[in-house]
Amino acid sequence: MSTAGQVIRCRAAVAWESGKPLSIEEVEVAPPQKDEVRIKILFTSLCHTDVYFWDAKGQNPLFPRILGHEAGGIVESVGEGVTDLKPGDHVLPIFTGECKECPHCLSEESNMCDLLRINTDRVGMINDGKSRFSINGKPIYHFLGTSTFSEYTVVHVGQVAKINPHAPLDKVCVLSCGMSTGFGATVNVAKPKKGQSVAIFGLGAVGLAAAEGARVSGASRIIGVDLNPSRFEQAKKFGVTEFVNPKDYNKPVQEVIVEMTGGGVDRSVECTGSIQAMISAFECVHDGWGVAVLVGVPNKDDEFKTHPVNLLYEKTLKGTFFGNYKPRSDIPAVVEKYMNKELELDKFITHTVPFSEINKAFELMLAGEGLRCVIRMDA
Ligand code: NAD
Ligand code: ZN
Repeated sequence: MSTAGQVIRCRAAVAWESGKPLSIEEVEVAPPQKDEVRIKILFTSLCHTDVYFWDAKGQNPLFPRILGHEAGGIVESVGEGVTDLKPGDHVLPIFTGECKECPHCLSEESNMCDLLRINTDRVGMINDGKSRFSINGKPIYHFLGTSTFSEYTVVHVGQVAKINPHAPLDKVCVLSCGMSTGFGATVNVAKPKKGQSVAIFGLGAVGLAAAEGARVSGASRIIGVDLNPSRFEQAKKFGVTEFVNPKDYNKPVQEVIVEMTGGGVDRSVECTGSIQAMISAFECVHDGWGVAVLVGVPNKDDEFKTHPVNLLYEKTLKGTFFGNYKPRSDIPAVVEKYMNKELELDKFITHTVPFSEINKAFELMLAGEGLRCVIRMDA
């Protein structure tokens, strides 16, 4: 029997307050409205951005909320005006959207859609500002327009990438955020030339995807920087050739890297969320041509401080969301790269847990263990 047009009751992991374990609850999910689709989530994984908004130490506390933004699923039903998606389509929800009409979507250079760019403070749908989730009629907030820690979720059509139905959703779900973000930050934004050196700050899943981008670009040296020494062994499998732990030196890590490379790295990609690492990542690039790309999500009160002479010396500072990919136009082809074995994803998935044990994924990330933990919604 079709559930289209009906309220669906299903399980969701609700964050009731900051830093407290999520609790699995029965929620009501309203039907999709104009330009919205309702998706049955099959697999979701945990990204560090979810953890920042769950512990809410450096971010606005907005609760109760259904977190989650890295996922894969199948369209259950579509709202009015949705023509390019239909029930049964395999999709990845994406935390930043593409309306296909605004100046950003029409520009080749930007994925910062005017209508649907990432907005961490939005708690309802764009159409009416309201939530589609409730418990006994009381609204539960959305997160990033995706809220994938629920068996069903409602997403704006501009935040949905339709992908090859043969792609295994338990693997390609990580392309919905982390792997596309890191890989794209290197190949689309830092754009190292063959033979150049690249420093990667933060060797979690996003950083190692950035390292993968450096490897396929033919980088000669890939220098991994992390405070957690247990990251180094794992990173060797991702082509990282040298390791620097800032804790091992009594001078700023940018000075260490400048000395190691005789003047600085050609490119750096920051994937930590630490303001200190962002500054180091900029200051360690070579003058004249070095390019630094910031990817980590900063705390809301962070400020970037560097001497302007660093810019006068012709170092370039950039930043990116989602590796500059346009979610609807570009992601289907990134999924094809995985299908054609041009892009490896399996090695990023170090853990799998059933939905009922979603809090384990948080524990692993807080302990700095593993890369991506995939959460199976059917268990
Ligand atoms: P993760 O926790 O798996 O990895 C982060 C790594 O950074 C850890 O290994 C940690 O030890 C290391 N680290 C922390 N502070 C450091 C410092 N000062 N110096 C060196 N290393 C340090 O997280 P992740 O899921 O890989 O995400 C990485 C970052 O990317 C997060 O800030 C996340 O919010 C952000 N992110 C941004 C986007 C985007 O579109 N811009 C998308 C996804 C994730
Ligand atoms: Zn993410």
